[in-house]
Amino acid sequence: MQPRKVLVVDDSKLMHKMYEVMLRQYPLVYAMDGRQALDRLQEHADIDLVLLDINMPNMNGLEFLAQIRTNGAHQDLPVIIISTEGRDEDTQRGLEAGATAYIKKPFHSEDILEKISQL
Ligand SMILES: [Mg+2]
Repeated sequence: MQPRKVLVVDDSKLMHKMYEVMLRQYPLVYAMDGRQALDRLQEHADIDLVLLDINMPNMNGLEFLAQIRTNGAHQDLPVIIISTEGRDEDTQRGLEAGATAYIKKPFHSEDILEKISQL
């Protein structure tokens, strides 16, 4: 099967590095905030999945999610929220905003790899 392109949205460069190592088998595209992520989706029509941080400047993860879920083209795009916002109401808000799954930081790389391959 063709490797799927994954969009990584996180305001931490360190997290980008981590995903780069962890997700070696996937082609990755990066964004530092929700606004950049919207641009990346425009530039790369073949993005199949999004890993999304919540706390970011300019446009946060929940705002980004609300945007793409109201835009017809990305209604079904799998989005995994990966955030330190680990309280239940945050999980709930993320899922209500249209996230496909929610993983709390710190996480085990196997959890993420498993979720990605499921989706
Ligand atoms: Mg952050």
